[in-house]
Amino acid sequence: PRQPKTCFVPSNSRVLMLLGQLERLNREAMLADAEIGRQITAKILHLIQTQGEKSTKHILGYTMTIYLLEPFWKGQWENNSLHYVNDRCVCVPGGGRRVGVFVSKGGTGILLQLVLSGSKESPPSEELMLQLHSLLAKVGPKDRKFGVKARLNGALNVTVNLLKQNLQNHKLLLPCLQVLRVYSSNSVNAVSLGKNGVLELMFKIIGPYSKKNTSLLKVSLDTLGALLKSKTNARRAVDRAHVPVLLYIYQDWHRNDTRHRHMLIRKGVLGCLKNITNIKLGRKAFIDADGMRILYNTSTECLPVRTLDPLINTSSLIMRKCFPKNRLPLPTIKSVFHHQLPHVPAGGPVAQLYNQPLGVDDVVDESDDNDDVETENDTENEEEDKDHHARNDDIETDINKLRPKETHSRPFEELKIYERFFLELSEDFQVMQDRHPFVSLVESSTSKNLINIVTFHFKTRGGGGGVNRHYRQPPLLAGGVAAQQGGGAEETLAEEWAEEEEGGEGAVLEVPDTALLLPLHDPDLYVEMVKSTRSVPQYSEVAYPDYFGHVAPTFREHILERVYGVQRTKIFQDIERLIHPNDILDKVVYDLDIQSCPVIDDGESLKFNSQFESGNLRKAIQARKFEYDLVLNSDINSNHYHQWFYFEVSGMRVGAPYRFNIINCEKSNSQFNYGMQVLMYSVQEAISGRPRWVRTGTDICYYKNHFSRSSIAAGGQKGKSYYTMTFSMTFNHKDDVCYFAYHYPYTYSTLKMHLQKLEALRTPQIYMRQDILCETLGGNSCPLLTITAMPESTSNDQICQFRNRPLVFLSSRVHPGETNASWVMKGTLEFLMGSSPLAHSLREAYIFKIVPMLNPDGVVNGNHRCSLSGEDLNRQWQSPSPELHPTIYHTKSLLQYLAAIQRAPLVFCDYHGHSRKKNVFMYGCSLKETVWQTNISATSCELHEDLGYRTLPKILSQMAPAFSMASCSFVVERSKEATARVVVWREIGVQRSYTMESTLCGCDQGKYKGLQIGTRELEEMGAQFCVALLRLKRLTSPLELRNHAHLLDVESDLIETRFTSPVLTYVLEDEEHSFMEEVDYSAESGDEPDNDPDAADPHDNRLSDSESNNHRDSLT
Ligand SMILES: [Zn+2]
Repeated sequence: PRQPKTCFVPSNSRVLMLLGQLERLNREAMLADAEIGRQITAKILHLIQTQGEKSTKHILGYTMTIYLLEPFWKGQWENNSLHYVNDRCVCVPGGGRRVGVFVSKGGTGILLQLVLSGSKESPPSEELMLQLHSLLAKVGPKDRKFGVKARLNGALNVTVNLLKQNLQNHKLLLPCLQVLRVYSSNSVNAVSLGKNGVLELMFKIIGPYSKKNTSLLKVSLDTLGALLKSKTNARRAVDRAHVPVLLYIYQDWHRNDTRHRHMLIRKGVLGCLKNITNIKLGRKAFIDADGMRILYNTSTECLPVRTLDPLINTSSLIMRKCFPKNRLPLPTIKSVFHHQLPHVPAGGPVAQLYNQPLGVDDVVDESDDNDDVETENDTENEEEDKDHHARNDDIETDINKLRPKETHSRPFEELKIYERFFLELSEDFQVMQDRHPFVSLVESSTSKNLINIVTFHFKTRGGGGGVNRHYRQPPLLAGGVAAQQGGGAEETLAEEWAEEEEGGEGAVLEVPDTALLLPLHDPDLYVEMVKSTRSVPQYSEVAYPDYFGHVAPTFREHILERVYGVQRTKIFQDIERLIHPNDILDKVVYDLDIQSCPVIDDGESLKFNSQFESGNLRKAIQARKFEYDLVLNSDINSNHYHQWFYFEVSGMRVGAPYRFNIINCEKSNSQFNYGMQVLMYSVQEAISGRPRWVRTGTDICYYKNHFSRSSIAAGGQKGKSYYTMTFSMTFNHKDDVCYFAYHYPYTYSTLKMHLQKLEALRTPQIYMRQDILCETLGGNSCPLLTITAMPESTSNDQICQFRNRPLVFLSSRVHPGETNASWVMKGTLEFLMGSSPLAHSLREAYIFKIVPMLNPDGVVNGNHRCSLSGEDLNRQWQSPSPELHPTIYHTKSLLQYLAAIQRAPLVFCDYHGHSRKKNVFMYGCSLKETVWQTNISATSCELHEDLGYRTLPKILSQMAPAFSMASCSFVVERSKEATARVVVWREIGVQRSYTMESTLCGCDQGKYKGLQIGTRELEEMGAQFCVALLRLKRLTSPLELRNHAHLLDVESDLIETRFTSPVLTYVLEDEEHSFMEEVDYSAESGDEPDNDPDAADPHDNRLSDSESNNHRDSLT
């Protein structure tokens, strides 16, 4: 409650002083000194009367107190005084504030005191009790300490006794119940009232449908609901078999309240059930009493009436909570594929996985759903001020960790071997003509790798099989795409093609001619690249989208507006499985856990496949005729991290309403709830000249399901649920083969193809070199690119300028599931190799060192987050292992080498994708901004910091339409201390060290507002990043400053405009607040919409904070 402003006119100071005395009296000894109290009261009243009304607004609350006090001092009670308070304070327009003042001045305490003293008369004056309780019912809810006060002074029992004695006296009953309802919101009171038999009392009042006394009923139900939040009371209710009673009452009201006049009563009954089912016993009682069927049927009947939505939503919430927890239909949650590591890292999740005894059931554990460690929380925490605003306790508070790390752990001799990756720094171009600064990645690696690839072939139908000898010919298609029928220019091509392939059993595809649209794509070259790519499952197939390429559509793809009630509908369909189990097919149609992975081809089911580069689908189960449950594979050598998917579907029926459910998602929320669609690629469309991924799917939503995660998978937390991502889809083409993906795929082979094609763009003015930085655990090469401009001549000046260009170090795709990062990188590379004058200036300005894919193995094997070591590589930068994290180890070494020779890069940026936010934005590192977010005491000299780290993001926000400065953050978080950005900042000393995050979904600002992001926008972002670097160069280069002194001002302007409010720049991860659907929308099914003091379902409620922290952790 707000304190009234103390802006009294001076003449009021005396009033204030007197009030102070009165308050003290009031506090210390209510009755001790009645005479003094009387005198003071008289003085105040006199003063107020003589001063008139003009300043009474501020002291109205005091006045109320005094009017209450006055008769009290006089030792006599008049109901008039209470009426006065009621009339002047409570029942006036805008009375809320007056009540607030009244409460803050101890008004409720006095009223409670009056209740107690009034109860000592025998019999107590009914009129007085009625008045007091009516008043308390109104002012009590405004007093946070009301429950405690009532218990401490004994009023609690007075009210209860009054109730017990007046069950038939409805006039008195109502206000007493209303006050009881307020008492009950305190958890300690709830337990105490439960012991006092109040639960039974409530059950005496509530009952089947009746038109009488509905307001009594309503209050009783609310009170009961509040009492049942206590686990002790919930257990008591279960023990006394109240669950079937509540269900009966609910059904009765549902049947009889045909005109829906008493929705609140029905909701009150549900509220009680909702709270009882927070405990395991309650859920069991609910199931035993056939609660699922009852609530399912009643809800279904309510569906047509929109005003009954709250009932449906609450029913849905209860049913989801009670839905028996299931195990995932898997033998183990460990990845299907296993890669033998050179050594197992000591400790950590991988070690845990490896040390797990054979045969242990890791899908669920015994302890799951074991939430009833029934300790009643008898503290009064909930009465403490809960105003602690969402502080991020992850902010780094150790100032030493925010300072540059001085000690260079590695001697220069050790780093010297990295010299060979920096030929440009010593290049003298004396034999310029002969030097060829390009070492083909492919040439140097294929010979070795090819030997191991013996299984490469395209899938063929019918005879033949095996290796397709003519790579120049398009491959045969898996699902049997027939040559198109009918007329039209597009079909002609296919027909021509079919003619050429005489008698071929399988139709052969026309490769879309995309050479003009996709200069970096070449299907034949792609196949060549695939041959040298090594995957753990030894994939031998090529997915058509990667083969044909993707031509970004020219139409806009809007962020999807969510249809009202989608989630509810989906959940009801899920619940139907339990109610009508006979309708469920449960037919496994794809299963990587079975060695041969049998393909069922009976015409009744879809066919699935994911055994190609970056593919991820572990299992497909046909649940209903047109509904499939899909299970994703864990990252290799891990037992979770599933989010990324990429799989093929064929055998579909045109026009049928398919529903797909990915049932083992892990994150608690997803952009799929905020308008993001899945991506689909149709081979039929591709051969008709539209080779492209399109955003597709309707009725998309993401919600907690009834599959539980073992504590192993949930990082030690018990009984956490998985989430379902569901979408619906109708297919347009007969005999199509379609691919679905989480985001635009970008395989390692695609990268190699792009690099090869980029090489062809090299002109004599471009210096471009490709080195192999290292081999990965899986035997793939990690490319390192160097791009700059050739010196204009071999004169000393030119060579000197060439060697001394500042370095820009870029990396990408450390997280395989963030394919958008690769598309941004493609944009950057294409720009850098371009022929525009800007590109030329940029190459003259900097030497670019680029590691375009930090995690090739993860990408190849369809991981979402990890490398083959089962670890998140972007958490290994502090001490990467050369054996387990070679790409990180060597990339860091390159940077350490640069630091050692005093050539640390001007900018370091690691490209990422963000699954929970919109737009493109950057994370950077700032000592100052971090300190501002914490309570570290640091002297101002320690806080000297150049603000240059803000320049690049600021420039980007001005020129890149997808970029949002408002989403940027420069606060260093503890959980990020081992990420590239923080380590490069702290250990290498790069002030402009960034993570650039691109949305997977779309933009909510700028030119692309309301649109989902596509590869065109992502590539544009990569190009804009380059242009921004050029502008940065103009702003930072000391050489050019002489000519561009005014630009200095521009830079400081850039910084100033943003810098007024540092607090605002700290961005919490909980980005989406506007829920379109009222209930259940956050996918946190078990979460209470209100703040439940002792919500008994710890997985749903208590852990939500740490859960969101986990998400924050996992987002870079
Ligand atoms: Zn990432």
